[in-house]
Amino acid sequence: MRLLLIGPPGGGKGTQAKFLVKNFEIPQISTGDMLRANVNNSTDLGQEAQKYMKAGKLVPDSVILNMIKNRLSDEDCLNGYILDGFPRTIPQADGLNSLLSEMNQAIDHVIVMDVPDDLIITRLSNRRSCNKCNRVYNLIFDPPKNTNKCDNCDGKLFLREDDNPDTIQQRLNIYHKVTKPLIKYYNNMGINKNIQSQGTIEEIKLDILSKIS
Ligand code: AMP
Repeated sequence: MRLLLIGPPGGGKGTQAKFLVKNFEIPQISTGDMLRANVNNSTDLGQEAQKYMKAGKLVPDSVILNMIKNRLSDEDCLNGYILDGFPRTIPQADGLNSLLSEMNQAIDHVIVMDVPDDLIITRLSNRRSCNKCNRVYNLIFDPPKNTNKCDNCDGKLFLREDDNPDTIQQRLNIYHKVTKPLIKYYNNMGINKNIQSQGTIEEIKLDILSKIS
């Protein structure tokens, strides 16, 4: 199963991808997580990407496509994968198409998660991530037992640098302008599954499973 998740930042892509990983036993490929790992390890790629990420801007397509090309050739991707946060632009989608045809692969479903902007702002400003195991919480919708600590590993919870009001607004603007046209792009291929991403995490999960099974 090869899945692609499209939705605004804070739209629940990462949360639902984690369920899909368990359900289909395929890896989640999150370009945001890959970039953050590079930033944390101060790689050349991380140092280049950081300036864009901090400003809520998109990292250049060529950097992203290179990263994805390497990742999709890993052995754990043979039975499928979940693309989370990629593609985000039409050139990235075109690049993915070329890559898939080289590999004799195709995307089975594009899951389109629709969330109103005001809910995004509430979700992102209350999002907290664990500094050790990367588990993501929401102080309102999916709170940890202790506000500052991870339930899993006792790691410290932090607010992502790009989850501040100005950067959130910038990321939303880019989503509407640059990423949303991908919905039409994939609609033309007839593989879109539209999900109203406003219910509980469990309701959204069941909706996705019913549409792709
Ligand atoms: P995310 O964790 O998916 O919200 O991504 C965090 C940040 O990483 C984004 O605001 C971008 O700066 C960068 N990023 C992640 N994925 C991509 C992508 N496919 N194309 C360009 N930039 C990306």
